Amino acid sequence: MSFITKLFMIDCHEANNCCDKAQYKDAKPLEKFRLYLHLAVCKACRKYTQKNRKLSRMIKKSKLETCPEEKKKQWKEQITKTYVQDNV
Ligand SMILES: [Zn+2]
Repeated sequence: MSFITKLFMIDCHEANNCCDKAQYKDAKPLEKFRLYLHLAVCKACRKYTQKNRKLSRMIKKSKLETCPEEKKKQWKEQITKTYVQDNV
């Protein structure tokens, strides 16, 4: 393996590592470049990246949909009220 190839070609394990880092905006520009280069030639890692992105999006979305404490309290009170009234 030449020096240049060694510098830019990474294996799947490293690519997945970079992918995780990239998701959290932790990857250095060179790492991102290596990741994209690897993704260009490796189908398995492209799949992995896609799955990872989907998961991150889902987590982000679920966080947005989390209800505030105040609302939870209101619901709790309402449920308790209903429950107590039903039992009277
Ligand atoms: Zn790969």
